[in-house]
Amino acid sequence: MERLLPAHFLQTYHFCPRKLYLEENYRMRPPRTKGDLKRAILDEALKYTNRAEPGVVKSINAPTTEHRVADKYYDSNRRSLQEAIINNKEALAKEGMSIIDTHKQLWYDLRHATKARVRSTYEFMAKNRVYGNELWWQLIPKITFNLKLSSEKYGVEMTIYRVDNYPHSAVPHLITRQDPPERGVWQNHRTELALAMLLLAEQGLIVQEGVVDYANGTTERRLEMTADLHDHAQELVRRIRETLKSKDPPPRVDNPRKCDRCPHKEQCYDDQYMQAKKHEHTGQVTF
Ligand code: SF4
Repeated sequence: MERLLPAHFLQTYHFCPRKLYLEENYRMRPPRTKGDLKRAILDEALKYTNRAEPGVVKSINAPTTEHRVADKYYDSNRRSLQEAIINNKEALAKEGMSIIDTHKQLWYDLRHATKARVRSTYEFMAKNRVYGNELWWQLIPKITFNLKLSSEKYGVEMTIYRVDNYPHSAVPHLITRQDPPERGVWQNHRTELALAMLLLAEQGLIVQEGVVDYANGTTERRLEMTADLHDHAQELVRRIRETLKSKDPPPRVDNPRKCDRCPHKEQCYDDQYMQAKKHEHTGQVTF
């Protein structure tokens, strides 16, 4: 049976198919950076906020202000972040990263991510006048961060950054530091969001649209699910598999700006090195 493709392959493939090939088949993976470690800690903290949210909402047991609701979320999130940082303190020490600085930097991102929850809970409470346990059970939408899904049918696995859950439907969100294009969403986000929508729909949910939160969540762009988008996402997964199964790496991209930013530039343009890598490669297809 074929292995599932991690959805982050799409990003790399969009950047350069050859880069994906080199990293996956020739094992030329760039070393883990401090930024990767920070992202992993933030992901872990977001996971803990999912676990803590029912307690936060149930503690809102009387009418209150949005500011007070935010305080309850932020107190709880601070604990989630501390837990994630403590779990990773050895990795941080190994990288020479300070616990206090990491907390400060990640707190901004975590606080920002939680604004949607604060707003949604406050508005639901104020509109429906329900509190405590009842507020939690009735709350719509409930927001989940970092939802892991996989699909044999589509041959992919992914972690969806945020999902807004309604009784029979869901809206997935991606987040990026990138600025948005003039209109719509960038091509790579289009495919990734389409896959997120397909994976959620496979769970029996109605999924009509998805959202990309650009510039770290300050600009929202919506994307509607269509039959074309469905076909496009499936076709791209098929093309990525074909690329990875090929005996030879794809040609270099004709884009010096991309190559200048690529960690493999030196080796990629060294034909002898590439030839040696090709001989080393057992031809064993991993995907
Ligand atoms: S150096 Fe350029 S062609 Fe080579 S893998 Fe990187 S982006 Fe692709």
